[in-house]
Amino acid sequence: MPQGHSYDAVAHPRLGRTRPWAGLAAATLTLAACGGGGGGDVEAAAAYPEGDITFVVPFSAGGPTDTVTRLIAEPMAEELGGTIVVQNVEGAGGTIAAGEVAAANPDGYTVLMHHIGMSTAPSLYPELPYDPLEDFKPVGLVTEVPMTLVARSDFEPETMEEFIEYVKENADTVTLANAGIGAASHLCGLLLQEALGVELTEVPYEGTGPALTDLVAGEVDIMCDQTTNTTGQIQAGEIKAYAVTTPERVESLPDLPTTEEAGLPELEVGVWHGLYVPTETPDEIVQELTGALQVALQDQNVIDQLAELGAAPSSEEEATPEAHLERLEQQIELWRPIIEQAGVSAD
Ligand code: ASP
Repeated sequence: MPQGHSYDAVAHPRLGRTRPWAGLAAATLTLAACGGGGGGDVEAAAAYPEGDITFVVPFSAGGPTDTVTRLIAEPMAEELGGTIVVQNVEGAGGTIAAGEVAAANPDGYTVLMHHIGMSTAPSLYPELPYDPLEDFKPVGLVTEVPMTLVARSDFEPETMEEFIEYVKENADTVTLANAGIGAASHLCGLLLQEALGVELTEVPYEGTGPALTDLVAGEVDIMCDQTTNTTGQIQAGEIKAYAVTTPERVESLPDLPTTEEAGLPELEVGVWHGLYVPTETPDEIVQELTGALQVALQDQNVIDQLAELGAAPSSEEEATPEAHLERLEQQIELWRPIIEQAGVSAD
């Protein structure tokens, strides 16, 4: 797949806003400066941000990761008193973007938004040019998003029960869209095929934004994708939906059964998202970003928009580097045996 870069400025700052956590950060900075060492870092952190901050999204514009990023970028920019520019760096299931951010200047001006794919890539990509644990500092968790099992509007099955039967009987002709190896849509599709005991023809895109466009146009049959991307089209009747992949039903799509209700308990995925910076980024800057993330996640517009899309912001405890690191470590361990057993590799 070709890799692409596209930029878009989203956040226009309201300068000079009070930051409740800024006093604490400043106190830490003063102490660090007195202790000698790292003076340059401390000065850089004190002045942060002085220019545009780039939030790198590893999938296409208009897709679910892009949606969540743009939603939090604006209140984060306001809180930081700077401008956040969103850049989409597509390709290889999100690993090209992660590789670029791992190698970027560790100055707080390049931040990666990534999802569950950060934890699965080490098991899927033997030549991964970065280590998710060694090469990044986590900033905090952002949100966890349910997935939906969807199809083009004229796909024959009407219910989840019929869907299971139809896909099993027609496995040689059904096409399954995804956003590349390691994307959430790929992982969910993998679990679906395992659960049904079928092998479908997979059609990779650079994000589920363009994949959804093709699904609406009837170019591809089915897809597993996040509610942040599919809710509008489901509600408008532009695509069919069969189930959600969470243990509980989703409030904004109350008629959809869970995969567990439909007899596929093994098809359970919640797509968690987090922000990362290169590992040498000064802790003081990470602290600034974490503080701004926490404020953004309490923004009523963010809460309301996520709720409309079937998701919720991470809690204050989750939106911390510590909780984020714990989730990343736990998920790397969780997915490794699943991926090994499925025998999937990006080779
Ligand atoms: N999150 C990806 C996107 O934004 C899709 C995926 O992971 O499946 O397009």
